[in-house]
Amino acid sequence: MTAPWSLPDFDAHEALHFFDDEKCGLKAIIAVHSTHLGPAAGGCRFWYYGNDGDAVTDALRLSRGMSYKNAMAGLPLGGGKAVILADQARTKTPDMLHAFGKAVDSLGGRYVTAEDVGISVADMIEIARNTKFVAGLPVDSAHVGGDPGPHTSLGVFLGLKAAVKRGLGKDSVNGLRIALQGAGSVASGVAMHAAAEGAKLSIADVDQAKAQKLAAAVNGTVVSPDAILATEADVLSPCALGAILDEQSIAALKVPVVAGGANNQLATDADGERIHARGILYAPDYVINAGGIINVSTEYLNDGDASVVRQRIEGIPVRLEQIWSESASSGRNPAAVADSMAQKLIGRG
Ligand code: NAD
Repeated sequence: MTAPWSLPDFDAHEALHFFDDEKCGLKAIIAVHSTHLGPAAGGCRFWYYGNDGDAVTDALRLSRGMSYKNAMAGLPLGGGKAVILADQARTKTPDMLHAFGKAVDSLGGRYVTAEDVGISVADMIEIARNTKFVAGLPVDSAHVGGDPGPHTSLGVFLGLKAAVKRGLGKDSVNGLRIALQGAGSVASGVAMHAAAEGAKLSIADVDQAKAQKLAAAVNGTVVSPDAILATEADVLSPCALGAILDEQSIAALKVPVVAGGANNQLATDADGERIHARGILYAPDYVINAGGIINVSTEYLNDGDASVVRQRIEGIPVRLEQIWSESASSGRNPAAVADSMAQKLIGRG
């Protein structure tokens, strides 16, 4: 048996917690990568994994990503992540969410949870019955909080525009073709912003109905999920799941720019170099998709209003510019440059 700390993605995690509550059927993992800058903050993913090992790997990779993301967004938070292992039918009960709340609470604030794929604002309310270490709860319009998705979308859109400026020399996405992978929360917001500025969208989702609905809303076209990564466009915006940029898909890309909100887009570190070697401008995922955690952090720490959140999200394209500039002067790929910057910030440089 492989010990967790021998796993390729372990990366000196401070802690890895496993929860198994047979009564309600909760199986969950909470990974705490770093608390160097503050409590480990990161969302909870509810997902069906083919095997338990994939869930551990996902938790570890996502958790490290949160350390890097929070550090690069300038937040006083460390990085962690939870995954709830769903059954194939994705059965989710209030009891399960309550038990997950207890699990979060048992860590005494070292980990703060929020929404991720498969977890809604309504689910957060159930989780919060048993713990105060929760963000992403509904709030009235005068307060910061609620679904992080729209804030992530805004940051991704601003980052995408910065990439278009740097990669294509254009100030607007008007008339540009954007291939969008995903039609969920983040993708929908990106599509709305881009369409409002005149972009032409090609959209793919494994859930055809979602892709069709979004395409109808933004006057876009639906593309098959198998074809989206090789669609000819000005920008590819991956906004679904991770590890989609690998040797094969990178070789097939027909875009000069990749800028999207999905976590862990690069299958391996080598893929950061591969995409760079093809001359494609890549926006490191955990930098461009920090809008949601910026909103979560401002809610949880109660250190600003909506205008502060907006101002912090506007820092995302600035940070991306720093990364691309350093990449241009050093020759290192943007993903590696971002990793080095983040590692320094969390005291592991
Ligand atoms: P979501 O569940 O609302 O949407 C994800 C969508 O991707 C779903 O519609 C799903 O059917 C689709 N999908 C899954 N596999 C696909 C495939 N192979 N091809 C095409 N579509 C596929 O989730 P979301 O909140 O929009 O998150 C999307 C991504 O952004 C995830 O990687 C998530 O970790 C990341 N992210 C989300 C936030 C946030 O605030 N929600 C913040 C940062 C990063």
